[in-house]
Amino acid sequence: MKILIIDDALADRLIIRRHLLSMGHEVILAESGEQGVFLFQQQDPDLVLLDVRMPEMDGYQVVKKLREIDRGWRPILFLSSTLNIESFAKGIYSGADDYLYKPIEKVALDAKLHAMERIAGMRQQLLSTTRALAEETKKVKQFANQDALTGIANRRFLNKTLDQEFRRHCREQMSLSIIMIDIDWFKEFNDHFGHLAGDDAIRSCAQKMSDIIKRAGEFIARYGGEEFCVVLPATEVEKAKKIAQNLCDAVRELNIYRDDLEMQTYLTISLGVSSMIPQQTDSMETLINSADKALFQAKQAGRNQVCVVSI
Ligand code: GH3
Ligand code: MG
Ligand code: MG
Repeated sequence: MKILIIDDALADRLIIRRHLLSMGHEVILAESGEQGVFLFQQQDPDLVLLDVRMPEMDGYQVVKKLREIDRGWRPILFLSSTLNIESFAKGIYSGADDYLYKPIEKVALDAKLHAMERIAGMRQQLLSTTRALAEETKKVKQFANQDALTGIANRRFLNKTLDQEFRRHCREQMSLSIIMIDIDWFKEFNDHFGHLAGDDAIRSCAQKMSDIIKRAGEFIARYGGEEFCVVLPATEVEKAKKIAQNLCDAVRELNIYRDDLEMQTYLTISLGVSSMIPQQTDSMETLINSADKALFQAKQAGRNQVCVVSI
């Protein structure tokens, strides 16, 4: 361990240092409270041995200061010549962890350092477990909102966020738009190329579209099998329609080849747009149903296109 000794008595510093060096520790010496506080910050020791009675800044003041500046917890042991129960308690309440009485016995010093190391080790273990747990929790939260196949947002995230956005747009009386998207003739694609190729196509479409849906607050989610939903906050219908057309063109331009259909050679999508300034009496379903209707119209009209239903 790297141990800082703060003691104004030279003889005491040297005796303790000798003991510590013979136990294989690294030692830093400070001859005053001020110097001790400085070296504590500069040298980052693992443990502090601190004399109680020192001129100017005494041990109680030093330990309070060290606890203030210490970002974690480092063991601090008081070194005292008096076995006074009041000053013992005062030291502990000021922030010290234990006492060693002068003259320092090597055996007692070794045993107390051992105890402190054990506590520090347990604390370290607890910290790394807590850190690992926080990491895991973050991952679980992320996966809970993420679609496993495509990596974009899932239906759960969509429902939660669209509901929040719907209420915010109602409060702020702004236009909220959504786009419902469905891959065209996908059953045939799957039947012809197989499910794995189908999965690849879904992933490629999701990736391409999420590259386009980038403004703060907007997002694309996988709604179901080969269906997606884009949420566009503070967006008027005309702007939403333009974005939908960009998505339609971008997917077509992926040039995902298909020779399973007579009438088309590349994979395409159909898109339904709906926009509204939500009122108190409206619900999120109104918006979704209209976008569904628009999508149905796009399918009916021949697919690979955008339709809008105004509310
Ligand atoms: P339409 O143009 O009217 O949308 O025709 P469609 O064939 O795409 O419509 P339908 O809803 O009948 O078929 C969707 C197909 O999507 C059914 C299923 O085989 C396929 N599908 C759904 N989810 C997945 C998936 O996760 N992976 C793969 N590979 N295929 C999927
Ligand atoms: Mg479908
Ligand atoms: Mg489809």
